[in-house]
Amino acid sequence: STSERDPRQLHVVHCTAEMAPIAKVGGLGDVVQGLARTCLSRGHVVEVLLPFYECLPESQIEGLAHERDFDCPKGRSWDGRIQCQSLRTSAWKGKIDGIPVILLRPANWGESNIFRGDRIYGGGYNELEAYLYFCRACLEFLAVSGRRPNVIHTHEWQLGALPMLYWDAYGHAGLNARIVFTIHNMDNTGECRQDEFAYTGLPGEMFATVDKALDERTIGHNPERLCLMKGGIIYSNAITTVSPTYAEEALGGAAAGWLRSTLAKPEVRGKFQGVLNGIDTVAWDPATDPVLPANFTAEHTHGKELCKRYLQQGLGMDVDPEKPLIACITRLVPQKGIHLIRHAVHRAAQLGGQFVLLGTGHADGDFRQMAAGEYAAHPDVRLLLMYSEPLAHLIYAAADIILVPSMFEPCGLTQLIGMRYGAVPLVRATGGLADTVKDVDAEGEASPNGFTFAGVDEGSLDATLDRALRYYRERPDWWVELARCNMKVDSSWEQSAKSYIAIYNNLVAAV
Ligand code: ADP
Repeated sequence: STSERDPRQLHVVHCTAEMAPIAKVGGLGDVVQGLARTCLSRGHVVEVLLPFYECLPESQIEGLAHERDFDCPKGRSWDGRIQCQSLRTSAWKGKIDGIPVILLRPANWGESNIFRGDRIYGGGYNELEAYLYFCRACLEFLAVSGRRPNVIHTHEWQLGALPMLYWDAYGHAGLNARIVFTIHNMDNTGECRQDEFAYTGLPGEMFATVDKALDERTIGHNPERLCLMKGGIIYSNAITTVSPTYAEEALGGAAAGWLRSTLAKPEVRGKFQGVLNGIDTVAWDPATDPVLPANFTAEHTHGKELCKRYLQQGLGMDVDPEKPLIACITRLVPQKGIHLIRHAVHRAAQLGGQFVLLGTGHADGDFRQMAAGEYAAHPDVRLLLMYSEPLAHLIYAAADIILVPSMFEPCGLTQLIGMRYGAVPLVRATGGLADTVKDVDAEGEASPNGFTFAGVDEGSLDATLDRALRYYRERPDWWVELARCNMKVDSSWEQSAKSYIAIYNNLVAAV
C-alpha cells in the first residue's frame, strides 16, 4: 500500500453490525472495511468488533481462534422491574481479509438465538435485543480483556446504545476512550421502548429525558420511547455522517427528520460533520480484480470491452459492443428510487440500450413481475434479483453507465465503484451523489464526470438518460476519454481516513 505512516499511533476499536466482504449487507460494511484497512496501513492499531453471526462463513476467517468467554450483563423488564441475568458470551478472534476482528456471540446457542439464522438481518432473532446486547458485550469485552483503546468508533443505530452505556456504566471501568459515532443512514433511527432498553442491563428510564435519548415524537404517549440514534449523538464526542451534502441536508433539510433539532443544538452542531466515504481500492481494482475475465486500466481499456461481451454472452443478451449498457446495483428499497429504476428499464429498452439490474430487497415485487413478464426473454434487459458479490464486480466492469436515481443518498458507493471501472455515473443530485458527480453540461464545472438530474419524476430522468445516450452514440471518443478520466480519479480512503484520524487526534489530545 502507498499510505504514509502517521506520527502518533492510535488504538482504534470499531464496533459495528457489518464489515465487508463477509459480514456485509450494504455500504456500512464497505466503509468499515475501507477505513479500517487504511488506518492499519497508516500504522494504527485497529480492531473491529462484530457480531459472530451464525451465517458467517468460518472458512473465510483467517486464524479463527477462541479468545475468551465472559458473562455479559443483560436484563429483561418484568412487571415494571428489571430482572438481571447475564448471558455467557464467547469472543473469537481472527482476521477477515487481513483486518483483525473480534467476533462476539452467546456462548451457547441453546441459551439464546441472538445472531442465529441464515442471514445477517431478518434471520429470525430479535434485532433490537441482539444489538442492545452487542453494545454491552463490546464494552464488557474491552473491560475484561484489558484493552484500552484511544478511540471507540461506533456505527449506526445498532451501536447507538454503546456511547450511552459507556458514559453511564463504564466511565470508571478503567477505559479511557473517546467515542466517535458515524451515521450512515438516518432513515432508521432505532426506536426502542424504555423497557426494551433493559436488554443492556440498565433501565431505559435513566435516558428518558429530552436532553438524553427520549424520542421526542412520543412525548405525551404511553409509553414514551427512546431513540438509539439520538442517544448515540448526544453521548458521543464526535459525530460524523458520510458526506458533506448529507450533513447539510440533515441540518437544513428533511434528511434527519425530527433529529434535525438534536443535531442543530449548539453543543452537538460543533461536533457534527460530513466526511465523504472512499472506496476500498484494493478490493475494487479493475487492474487486478480476479473475478473479471480480462483486467483493464485507464491506459488500456480493451479488457473492458471483453468484460462487456462476456457479460452480454453469459446473460444470454444481444452481444453488441455498440449498445450502451446501463447497470444498477442496489438494495431494492424506496430510498433507491424504485419507480425511477423501473422506468429506466423501459426507457433504456425503448431507446435501443441495454439494462442490467442486480438487486435485492423487499420492494422487488415489480421487478419479479417484469422479469417473468415482458422482459422474460428480452435480448436487452436482465433483472437479476439476487445478491452476488462476483456478479457485481463483473457488471461494474461491463457497464457503460451506472445508474443511481436515489430519493436520498447519504453517500452512495456504486457511483464511485462504477467510475473506477470505467462506467459513467448517471445520478439524482442528492446527498453524497451531489458531492461526487458533476454534470458534463453544468456551466463552469471544473471537473465534470457524469450526468445528474434533480427531479423525482420520470420526466427528469428521461431527459438526462436521453442526453447521456446521445453523447454515447454521437461522441464515442469523447465518451471513452470521460470514462478514462473517471478511472483515474482518486476515490481511495486515503483522504477520508486522514479526516477521521484528525478527528481521533483532536479528541485524544483533549483528554
Ligand atoms: P447502501 O449502503 O444504501 O446499500 P451504497 O451505495 O452505500 O448503498 O452501498 C452499496 C454496496 O452494496 C455496494 O458495494 C454495492 O456494490 C453493493 N450491493 C448492493 N446490492 C448488491 C447486490 N444485489 N449484489 C451485490 N452487491 C450489492
